[in-house]
Amino acid sequence: MEIDIRKAAQLKEKPTNVAGLGFGKAFTDHMFIMEYDAGVGWHDARIQPYSKLEIDPASAVLHYAQEIFEGLKAYRTAQNEVLLFRPQDNAARLNISARRMVMPEIDPAFNVEAMKKLVDLERDWVPRAEGTSLYLRPTMIADGAELGVHASKRYLYYIICAATGMYYTKGFAPIRIYVEDNYVRAVRGGVGGAKTGGNYAASLRASEEALEKGYNQVLWLDAVERKYVQEVGAMNMMFLLGDTVCTAPVDGSILDGITRRSILQLVKDMGYKVEERPISIDELYAAGESGMLKEAFGTGTAAIITPVSEFCYKGRCLVLNGGKIGALTQKLYDTLTGIQRGDLADPYGWTVRV
Ligand SMILES: *Cc1c(COP(=O)(O)O)cnc(C)c1O
Repeated sequence: MEIDIRKAAQLKEKPTNVAGLGFGKAFTDHMFIMEYDAGVGWHDARIQPYSKLEIDPASAVLHYAQEIFEGLKAYRTAQNEVLLFRPQDNAARLNISARRMVMPEIDPAFNVEAMKKLVDLERDWVPRAEGTSLYLRPTMIADGAELGVHASKRYLYYIICAATGMYYTKGFAPIRIYVEDNYVRAVRGGVGGAKTGGNYAASLRASEEALEKGYNQVLWLDAVERKYVQEVGAMNMMFLLGDTVCTAPVDGSILDGITRRSILQLVKDMGYKVEERPISIDELYAAGESGMLKEAFGTGTAAIITPVSEFCYKGRCLVLNGGKIGALTQKLYDTLTGIQRGDLADPYGWTVRV
């Protein structure tokens, strides 16, 4: 399929201080979009001026949340090249989410080509300052205008981009996490393994209550036993227990993070042992008290690595590493962002030049 390019007649003013911009607010001049009809397939792929969507008030996405999305970043190197980080992985994961949500798949090679074409057109929007990037948000929504509950016959797929600074206002700094023992996010067999908006809608109540209590994020426990740690907001969680990096297994109830994958590879190559296994909150607290639990951090495209200084579970606080950023957490942040920004060699072939 050809991608038609319709350029905007007038360009927006680009933000001058991207680092202070926050996350996902300064949208660029163009978007990629294409449509799907049952029996026809994907059609009318184009890059057009960023604009509002016209959708029917009866559109399935608005009523039954048939929606999936992705998130990835483009970085500007010191040599002024633009690099996408592991876009093939996002294209593959989109199709995993699509299958779970009964939505049409997209040829991964075509999807990556669409991302590259769009970023190429928007390359002046890719910032260089530390902690900044161009964030891409590929999104698929069900657009059939029928209120019967069944998979839609029409879909829209679009990619928007935003010049983005640090995810958290304090930048690369430790956050405090509330271990949620009342609400749950996902169950095995549910949609926790799909990147779908409903998971986020279901999480907002707990996030709000945690914020009110002074915590930045919620750590979810498994929905059956309320015992095993799953993930945090839009991040997978890792724990340094002795010289082993432990993280919850990809079992259908957590998202299979691409940052998670990258970090597991890096720590293996740094000589750490890696365990993907169920980790109970009681084990973590016991390891915290005995000194075995040295560091904890979240991994996700939005903030890359997020150090954790403190957990609170049923009123008991666990402070890690004296509240400071751990040595491994710092090293992983420097290494991964170094590869992403082209400051360090990329022996893994993760970066894709636009
Ligand atoms: C996107 C996401 C992550 C992180 O995945 P990355 O591919 O590393 O960005 C983790 N958990 C949830 C629920 C997510 O939606």
